[in-house]
Amino acid sequence: MDPTFKILIAGAGPAGMATSMVLSKNKIEHVLIDKETFPRDKICGDALSGKVVSELNKINTEYMKEVAGNPTDYTGSYGVRFYSPNGKMLDVPFSNNPDNLKHAPGFISPRIKFDNFLFSKANPEFAKISLNTAIEKIIRKDNKVIVILNKNGVFSEEEYDLVVGAEGDRSIVAKELLGDKKQHEHYCAGLRVYYENVSDSHPDKFIELHF
Ligand SMILES: Cc1cc2nc3c(=O)[nH]c(=O)nc-3n(C[C@H](O)[C@H](O)[C@H](O)COP(=O)(O)OP(=O)(O)OC[C@H]3O[C@@H](n4cnc5c(N)ncnc54)[C@H](O)[C@@H]3O)c2cc1C
Repeated sequence: MDPTFKILIAGAGPAGMATSMVLSKNKIEHVLIDKETFPRDKICGDALSGKVVSELNKINTEYMKEVAGNPTDYTGSYGVRFYSPNGKMLDVPFSNNPDNLKHAPGFISPRIKFDNFLFSKANPEFAKISLNTAIEKIIRKDNKVIVILNKNGVFSEEEYDLVVGAEGDRSIVAKELLGDKKQHEHYCAGLRVYYENVSDSHPDKFIELHF
């Protein structure tokens, strides 16, 4: 690897952190920025699917052990319970052999906890971290990418060889480099609410989807 090759990861959510963790694992230096500081919340249903579990295991098997060993922040889930509008119900377990699993095949974790857990795994030996730093503009110039950054109201211009746009659904990188536009025909509103004192949930904490 060319040590002068400069990489910027814009956004330290799950996409940015997965990229950062894999780069650090391969001893590749990079800059990691986020417009927020951590812990920060993110509107989400908070479900960590089997795919999340297997990707995290690929990055570092110790991470899944930490997740599974922390029932306060992570509730193990063993399947999905679907309800149709007429009240009929169908259970779909994540695994046919749940007794042989080392830990639950899926989890529910508030993103304020899970994203902070991922962020805590940033390796400062390879990741130069800058929080409260927003990417404002990005310009392609020859083989380089010029980014305008805003850290607490102070603007700076930096040059990179590679920018990973991991700033979520309003990605400036995607908008400015790929012409990504809001697609009104595929756009809808979502609402996230936490409830207390919920009873009658599945004993194996199946996720419920009500249509
Ligand atoms: C209502 C709702 C429910 C959902 N439920 C689920 C679910 O149950 N399970 C599931 O797996 N997925 C769910 N999702 C989808 C999931 O939330 C996203 O797929 C996921 O968060 C995307 O991760 P990401 O890292 O790409 O972006 P994000 O998690 O959005 O992270 C982006 C990061 O970039 C930072 N950032 C943003 N702009 C800038 C900028 N200009 N400069 C620097 N940093 C910036 C943000 O602060 C943030 O930390 C849900 C989404 C919604 C809206």
